[in-house]
Amino acid sequence: MSQKSIYLIIGLIVSAIVGLIILQLRLLQTGLEVNRERYDRAVQTVLKQVADEVEKREEDEIRLTLNNGYAGGIPEGRYSELRISGTPPSLLSARSIRISPNSSIRLRAQFANRNLEERINREAIHNKIVKELKNAGIENKLEYGIYDTRQQRFLARNGRLLSPLGSDTSRHEDLMNADYSVILFDDDSTIPGEIRAYSPNKDQVIYSSLYGNFAASLLFVLIILGCFIYTIYVILRQKQVSEMKTDFINNMTHEFKTPIATISLATDSIVSPRISGDAEKVQRFARIIKQENKRMNDQVEKVLQMAKLDKSRLNLNLTAVDLNDIVQSAVEYICLQVEPRGGRVTTHLRADPSVVEGDLTHLSSLVNNLLDNANKYSPEAPDIIVSTANVPRGIQVTVTDHGLGMTREARKNIFDRFYRVHTGDRHDVKGFGLGLSYVKTITEVHGGSIEVKSELGKGSSFIVTFPYRQPD
Ligand code: ADP
Repeated sequence: MSQKSIYLIIGLIVSAIVGLIILQLRLLQTGLEVNRERYDRAVQTVLKQVADEVEKREEDEIRLTLNNGYAGGIPEGRYSELRISGTPPSLLSARSIRISPNSSIRLRAQFANRNLEERINREAIHNKIVKELKNAGIENKLEYGIYDTRQQRFLARNGRLLSPLGSDTSRHEDLMNADYSVILFDDDSTIPGEIRAYSPNKDQVIYSSLYGNFAASLLFVLIILGCFIYTIYVILRQKQVSEMKTDFINNMTHEFKTPIATISLATDSIVSPRISGDAEKVQRFARIIKQENKRMNDQVEKVLQMAKLDKSRLNLNLTAVDLNDIVQSAVEYICLQVEPRGGRVTTHLRADPSVVEGDLTHLSSLVNNLLDNANKYSPEAPDIIVSTANVPRGIQVTVTDHGLGMTREARKNIFDRFYRVHTGDRHDVKGFGLGLSYVKTITEVHGGSIEVKSELGKGSSFIVTFPYRQPD
């Protein structure tokens, strides 16, 4: 998959996820609006029912007064109790007296002229509000007040009677700006009173009704996001592996091209009449062919060995191995390459005891690989320090160079098979990206551990620790 199409797919998926999140948020917003409307309607209906009830009670009182013979005044005592307790139907239908329309109008006017305080019963109103809220399924607290429009003051708040001082509107700003209100005695030409109310924790109730939906949406979005990130990670990882393999093939081809070209030249020379007669020159070219052939063979062996490297199938020939000796001979070997470049290798063999249980061949290759890299990745004259030391966990071999160093990203990957730090198209440092993967595997099969410290441009340090040899 090309880089472009990967970015295109990532872009599409990101847009789809963003779209999905926006859609979810809009749905939640609509849900909130619907819930808010529903809540408002329910509270308003409750208040309306209360106002209707108050009016109905006054109407019953008027009718009862008329039925009992209206004498031009509003009866005190018994009838006014109706405002509190409600009217038994038997009282209303008990008598049937002819009532003139005039007296009915007069009586109604008299009732309507009374103060709001006399027309309502705050306790009955309170009980009705509590009951109706419960019936409507609204558990929430409702802050309400009974407002006398003519006197412009509040008579009662939440069922409590207010003193003349406490009834001033300035003390009830919240109710003056309340969300809900119903008119008391609606059919009057003037508005005698109102019930004003608001719900202090309305938003909390409305939001909490959507918590479940919100949590579910969030969960699903997170799942999608998680899967997306994981997929991208896998795609990029695959891409990296495939690039590493391509690099490997390129390196292989490059490594083989030189010996093949040399062999070809050498054979051409041997068959040329000018040289074929000269036994010494033929010998020389034959040696070159043999040498290049061996080089190719070594490369193939190296690749095959590394590619087949499998912890479970690795046959170790375990003996007592002196790490100081291994380091010593590896240093002697690498000096042959370092010294011609004007470099030096400093050795500090401080480990005592220095013997571990291990495979001599593999441990030698391991140290050789580290030294080889220290030399390869030092562009100027190499300055390599090799040391052995005893630490609580075992015997430590440290190879330090002052070469290229590497980035944090490279440090994370260098032990992966085929991984090589990209140097563009330059093939100035030869390799297959298999050396450190081999080093790591060999360290691990010996029960050891490997650590790398490196800074770009300053150099690197590879620290390998092997456990002490167990006494028999
Ligand atoms: P190779 O050397 O064949 O490329 P290795 O597995 O030995 O493969 O190393 C992997 C990569 O780690 C190298 O390509 C190189 O970029 C980096 N590396 C290894 N050793 C060093 C070092 N001493 N200094 C800087 N970079 C190193």
